[in-house]
Amino acid sequence: MSLFNAYVTLSGAVDADISRDERMAHRTTYRIGGPASMVAVCHTYAALVKVLDVLHEEGVEWVVMGKGSNVLVSDAGFEGCVIVLGREFSRITLGDDGLVTAGAGVILSKLVTFALSNSLAGLEFACGIPGTLGGAISMDAGTRHEWIGQRLSDVVVLRPGEGLHRYPASEVEWGYRRTSIPTSEIVLEATLRLEPQDKARIASEMDQRLARRRRTQPMGKPSCGSVFRNPGTESVAKMLDECGLKGYSVGGASVSDTHANFIVNNGDATARDVIAVMGHMHDEVLEKRGVDLQPEVKFLGFSS
Ligand SMILES: Cc1cc2nc3c(=O)[nH]c(=O)nc-3n(C[C@H](O)[C@H](O)[C@H](O)COP(=O)(O)OP(=O)(O)OC[C@H]3O[C@@H](n4cnc5c(N)ncnc54)[C@H](O)[C@@H]3O)c2cc1C
Repeated sequence: MSLFNAYVTLSGAVDADISRDERMAHRTTYRIGGPASMVAVCHTYAALVKVLDVLHEEGVEWVVMGKGSNVLVSDAGFEGCVIVLGREFSRITLGDDGLVTAGAGVILSKLVTFALSNSLAGLEFACGIPGTLGGAISMDAGTRHEWIGQRLSDVVVLRPGEGLHRYPASEVEWGYRRTSIPTSEIVLEATLRLEPQDKARIASEMDQRLARRRRTQPMGKPSCGSVFRNPGTESVAKMLDECGLKGYSVGGASVSDTHANFIVNNGDATARDVIAVMGHMHDEVLEKRGVDLQPEVKFLGFSS
């Protein structure tokens, strides 16, 4: 494999910002993570296809990343290329049919604001969820009762080496923080079906959702949101709280005092600290409650 060859071939040759050894702490909401050997912010479809072709030819591993709001990157970083969707994937349009089409690189909060300005209801649940539309689709982001898959009409993906494929949303399985779209495919665009509604009503609903988040989540400190998945109908946050884990710390990482399923970075946390805290949370719940918690956060750069 030659990352160097890939870098030399792509630098300046495609409409993409190509960098080497960029610290992932700058691209994750945890503000944690060592360097990725290469980062390619692809601004056009043609650039994305070319980047993937060159990475394939050079045998370089890659991963697509949105805003890194659900990813823990190791302190050693990622030996491969992190692909980010740039300009061409950041557009939102409202069609005559009332459907909203948005690129996967669109920031979710922008999409929520777009819906509000056009008096369209249905995305209130997404208020305060960080990240991009692509990340939200990949994670089927949402709450216990509402999730992004419910609002989609169809999803366009790139199948590397093959081309574009359009999934009607009804043909995708939307599960709890997962979908049936293979991880080898890159979500590029989606069409959403929202409902016309009174703007003041939508705004009021959004305000309530945000206020609830501010009350129940540590908003001021870097985190990746919920660390573990809820096992069944039980709230994992409640379980962790009952096990007395709030405030438990290793190095710069602590279980939040506000929400026991959030680990916060107090400023100088390393991925190793977060893993140590997660390990303790997992073991305590296993010992005291007999539940084997599964992570919701995605890991990058850890040898399996
Ligand atoms: C404070 C806070 C609160 C949160 N609250 C919630 C919540 O209420 N509900 C919830 O569900 N989540 C929540 N999260 C988690 C996170 O915001 C969501 O999972 C979000 O949808 C991730 O989007 P992202 O763009 O940051 O994706 P990333 O974190 O960058 O990536 C997440 C996964 O998606 C994949 N991915 C990203 N883009 C694409 C693409 N274009 N094509 C294919 N795969 C892609 C990545 O490879 C990775 O596996 C919260 C996080 C924080 C920090």
